[in-house]
Amino acid sequence: MKSSNYSSPAPDLGPVHLNFFSYYGRMLFAMEFLTLLIGYLLVFSFFTVVCICGDHPSCINGPIGWVKRSLTKAFFCLIPKQIVDLGTRFVYYVYQQRNPTMQIVFGILVLSGHAIVVIDIFPILYGIFHDDNHVLVPMLLLFLNLFVFYKLCGADPGEITKDNHGVYSFIYPYDGAIYQKKTICKTCNFSKPARSKHCSVCNRCVHRFDHHCVWTNNCIGALNNHYFLAFLITLIMMCVNGFYMALRSIVSIAQYSGMVDALIMQANGKMTPVTLSALVQHLFMQFPRIIFLMASLSVLSLLMAGFTVYHLYLMFTNQTSNERYKIGSIKNSERCCRKENTEATQSKKPNKRKTLNTRPYNQGFLKNIAQVLFPKNYIEKHKKVSHR
Ligand SMILES: [Zn+2]
Ligand SMILES: [Zn+2]
Repeated sequence: MKSSNYSSPAPDLGPVHLNFFSYYGRMLFAMEFLTLLIGYLLVFSFFTVVCICGDHPSCINGPIGWVKRSLTKAFFCLIPKQIVDLGTRFVYYVYQQRNPTMQIVFGILVLSGHAIVVIDIFPILYGIFHDDNHVLVPMLLLFLNLFVFYKLCGADPGEITKDNHGVYSFIYPYDGAIYQKKTICKTCNFSKPARSKHCSVCNRCVHRFDHHCVWTNNCIGALNNHYFLAFLITLIMMCVNGFYMALRSIVSIAQYSGMVDALIMQANGKMTPVTLSALVQHLFMQFPRIIFLMASLSVLSLLMAGFTVYHLYLMFTNQTSNERYKIGSIKNSERCCRKENTEATQSKKPNKRKTLNTRPYNQGFLKNIAQVLFPKNYIEKHKKVSHR
């Protein structure tokens, strides 16, 4: 066994091979623990992707859309009506009305994760690597992320009012496909500027509307898109750093306590080296919160990375989620029409179809980025142009 300077309140591992046998020797799952854990993570990731992407036009007619529809049907058949009604009302309240529920949930999740870091991970890391500073990076990332979150929640996304309607009307031209001239917003009672959308949750039109974010209780539009990207990037950095710290503490404790060199007594009395599955299972029973945090952060990091890459791609190509959604919807409905009446659809509005396959607002890589990162400069520039 390796010598160790580990001095934190670690569990008494005792004679490791005896611990393994007495605790878990008779409780081994039929399926290996590691397989179960990986299976759980895959199933959890799959259902999360289905829930998030199932209604998107690019997925709705594919296998992901089909799985979501089937699951929804099964859910409504199996769950009692009263519970479904209650759940529907709750979902409507959370997703269709402005309220701070998900902001509070986000705060609880972030603080719970950091509570595990402070209570469980710091003592292990300081016990083994006592000369290193383990606090600086996670606390810096936490404050950075919460600061950006605060700015994002309170920032004006680019609300269009009667006073600034004139300015926003000249920023972008109408593309004739997604944005048509003289489309009136009946609620705000003015013609919608190109690239704007009326948010039904916030009840306002927003310039260069991307989407309504329930986590921030705010729309994501031209004026706060840069905060949104900064929020996603700092969130990923926080998740990846949390995962690294959890992994480092678990691997270190397994190495320094001698668990990796432990022997397990089989039913026939033979001693065999510990398997990875048995080791993970043992660590899970000893440090359930750290393993849970590590597993959650691994899934979350991957999902967040995919979401962030998508939003970076939108920034690089000067598109919004709302536009991708609308293009998907138009293409889906065209596909349905084509099945019904091929010739009539083929001859219909070829320019519109051409616009759908191009990126009408693309101005080149650097200009696209500048437009998102410095939205007020872009608006000021166009204000001057429109006043000439
Ligand atoms: Zn409106
Ligand atoms: Zn909104």
